[in-house]
Amino acid sequence: MANFELAGLSAAPGEVVKGHLGHVTLADGNKVGVPVVIVNGVEDGPTLVVTASIHGTEINGTGALLKTVRATDPQQLKGRLVAITVGNPFAFQVGSYFSPVIAPTGDGINMSSAPMWPADSGGTVTLRLAGVIGEALKVATHSIDVHSNPPDAIPFTLIRRDACPDENVLNEMEKMAEAWGFTVIDSPGRSATGVVGSSLAHGIPSMTPELIADFFLWEDNTNSGQIGITNTMKAIGMLEGDIVPQATPPMQGDFYMADRLTSHKGGLMWIKHPPGTFLREGDTAVDMMDVWGDLIEEVKMPYDGYCWSFTGGVGYTQVVPEGTQIAFTFRER
Ligand SMILES: [Zn+2]
Repeated sequence: MANFELAGLSAAPGEVVKGHLGHVTLADGNKVGVPVVIVNGVEDGPTLVVTASIHGTEINGTGALLKTVRATDPQQLKGRLVAITVGNPFAFQVGSYFSPVIAPTGDGINMSSAPMWPADSGGTVTLRLAGVIGEALKVATHSIDVHSNPPDAIPFTLIRRDACPDENVLNEMEKMAEAWGFTVIDSPGRSATGVVGSSLAHGIPSMTPELIADFFLWEDNTNSGQIGITNTMKAIGMLEGDIVPQATPPMQGDFYMADRLTSHKGGLMWIKHPPGTFLREGDTAVDMMDVWGDLIEEVKMPYDGYCWSFTGGVGYTQVVPEGTQIAFTFRER
């Protein structure tokens, strides 16, 4: 079997190679690249690209991916795992969801919405790093973009049925999501950007698992990510062994991403039901209280459905100004 080559890195069969995929140059001449670990198996097989910390607050995806890399024996592996451990190094450095709007990038880009394949090669530094990730996707047979919600949330995996170009890609994506082991939620009508959009547009099955407690390297949640990545590698024929069930069993149903709930008053948001609780149309999801202790708004469900997380305001604080999107919702078909 030939060496696996990517962006100037070369991994022999059975070898683990660590480095960077490409780089951009900052004002002071320092270079920023996208860190990667290639775990190259001893037999041919799929090329699975996994990205984490595309949103710089969601660092427990990086924790889960590093645990997986450390636990994966290339001597037992068919194909290779391309672990892009920090998808947006600018956002990761400063604990920010987007790239900073101040130095060193100044562009405030959401890496999830960045075109990757084709990339915006004339764009700002974050957009150029998105193109570096796109180069890795070009050699992938499968991809996973690990994200995470602030606590409290349910663990789930977003898939995109309407973005699959054919039945084979659809079936493979659904097989990956089932193997990962979280509740599966379809998310129709999204753009062909970011890791998943770019992959599916080119016929590469892909999905977005969402862990819980983005900022924190808590054992339970990083373990659930490691279980998910490893289960997926088993399902697509990279590793032998049985699928390991997740600690939180998946909800059963044909779910789809709906909308967000918005506060129309400013104040403290009191969450009325844990995420994943079935709520009827008109049920109150969040009570808003002002800083004088008066209840000023009941934020109600506009349809039967569920909230997967309560995102709150800046830094996920549960005090928000009016007009804040405070919860993500999903429904059953
Ligand atoms: Zn995210």
